[in-house]
Amino acid sequence: MIITLGYAWSCAVYPYKPCRSCRGFGHFRSPFLRVIRLCRRCNGTGRTLRGGRRAYNALARARRDFRQHNRRDNH
Ligand SMILES: [Zn+2]
Repeated sequence: MIITLGYAWSCAVYPYKPCRSCRGFGHFRSPFLRVIRLCRRCNGTGRTLRGGRRAYNALARARRDFRQHNRRDNH
């Protein structure tokens, strides 16, 4: 229970975690050629949403859709 609450809290305060693919750099650099590729996983931001935050976003979107649907029905 406390662990769940702590996880939910940390997800709310720190919704992002460093991208696993590029280790938070947001891009890859080739060691020989001077080419910088943006990381596809995080779109060059170097951060990805945490799983808990994604669930929260999905929940919030579902609630918003539900509310808009209700409003449409009332009119
Ligand atoms: Zn990345």
